[in-house]
Amino acid sequence: NSAISSYFKVVVLGAPGVGKTSITQQFMTSEYVAFENSVDQEENLVTVQLNGEESTLEFLDASDNEVNLENIRADAYIIIFSIPHRDTFDTAVDLLSELRMDMGIDRTVIMVGNKLDLVRKRKVKTEEAQEVSKMYDGKYIEVSAGLNHNIDELLVGILGSIRYKLNPS
Ligand code: GDP
Repeated sequence: NSAISSYFKVVVLGAPGVGKTSITQQFMTSEYVAFENSVDQEENLVTVQLNGEESTLEFLDASDNEVNLENIRADAYIIIFSIPHRDTFDTAVDLLSELRMDMGIDRTVIMVGNKLDLVRKRKVKTEEAQEVSKMYDGKYIEVSAGLNHNIDELLVGILGSIRYKLNPS
């Protein structure tokens, strides 16, 4: 296959313990993964095939000391919070407003509510998270890394949004 695949960087943000590592790991097992050898667990790299086009995504955990956000030209940001932990939502909203102030609306930002499986411990309403995301021109999705629920949808959402912003049609 000689097709040149595009390469995108995705920065993963959120308070400690919200599931940044778990979600990134689940991306590596997505059904959209292009080839057997197109995953690099160490480097958090995955090549996926979507709508007949190949793209390589690199996920950078913003809480990793080796990741210097100022020097990264990111194509997208995902801001994760934990649905059963209210304080992590407050952190996510702060991050979202900071991101938008810093770089305007030309970059993809997706707010992610994780741990959807802990249904009875919910501390953040879906509508509330949707409303805040919309206010800052971001999308909102709820997932469970634990159950691998909606993780593929998130991956497709990230890539679809990056491609759309590059080439609106
Ligand atoms: P990080 O600090 O943001 O990278 O968070 P981790 O990915 O290390 O996850 C923190 C803890 O939350 C771990 O014990 C995970 O097993 C747990 N966790 C992550 N995702 C989920 C989820 O969807 N549901 C539940 N119940 N636990 C989760």
